Amino acid sequence: MGLHHHDEVVLLLGAPGAGKGTQARFLADTLGIPHVASGELLREHRAMGTDLGVLAQEYMDRGDLVPDAVVVDMIADRLDEPDAEHGALLDGFPRTLAQAEALERRLADRGGEVRTAIYVEVPTDVLIERLAGRWMCRVCQTAYHEVFNRPTVAGVCGACGGELYQRPDDKREVVSNRVAVYLRDTHPVVERYARAGVLKRVDGNQSIEAVKDALLEAVGQDAAIPA
Ligand code: ADP
Ligand code: ADP
Ligand code: ZN
Repeated sequence: MGLHHHDEVVLLLGAPGAGKGTQARFLADTLGIPHVASGELLREHRAMGTDLGVLAQEYMDRGDLVPDAVVVDMIADRLDEPDAEHGALLDGFPRTLAQAEALERRLADRGGEVRTAIYVEVPTDVLIERLAGRWMCRVCQTAYHEVFNRPTVAGVCGACGGELYQRPDDKREVVSNRVAVYLRDTHPVVERYARAGVLKRVDGNQSIEAVKDALLEAVGQDAAIPA
């Protein structure tokens, strides 16, 4: 918790299925900061069978949020790792106003701040279609889609060779709860950063390439010139 830190945190906000995970790795590499995804970390805890993973399971399976206190601690620990010393791209966190306030307090303690909050906007009917067709790598958590972003070899991750699976929380009944939870608990976080003047809106309802270019523009990097 030294005061020499000047963490510059960039937030990637958006509903479930907005395409955050699809864009985050590339965006984090461009910014030179690590990608920290709360959902990925929670799924790793579940796979390892940690106490946190066991606690999180019932919430995740219902599409509810895992309690703030444990998620805040998990992210704080991750941000204490050396690679996050100068900031991180946060994906899926904060998801409640309480999480946002906890993050801001932590950053303020060390002279850092939320530099930019990017909001990837996608209409609800498109979100549902994306989640219903999502296939995820068991090993590296890269997301594919059976229509919009097909793996080169069916059932196999092009990035690492891992097996693809459909997340149990991408079932239709759970998805509608996740979208409702998003509107109730997470949309106020988007409004908070809009009021603070740090929100950049990106149209997420375009091709993966077009969204990538819009994100680069939002963080002030030039889009790659097509060869
Ligand atoms: P999030 O992390 O926001 O929940 P994902 O990145 O996992 O979202 O994307 C959700 C689903 O939509 C995945 O199946 C992904 O392949 C697909 N997808 C992502 N971006 C796009 C896009 N721009 N157009 C069409 N499908 C997309
Ligand atoms: P998606 O991008 O499809 O919404 P995530 O992988 O971000 O999915 O999250 C999956 C689940 O993990 C959420 O439905 C929720 O149960 C839990 N989760 C992830 N991030 C948080 C968070 N910041 N606070 C509380 N629960 C979270
Ligand atoms: Zn993989």
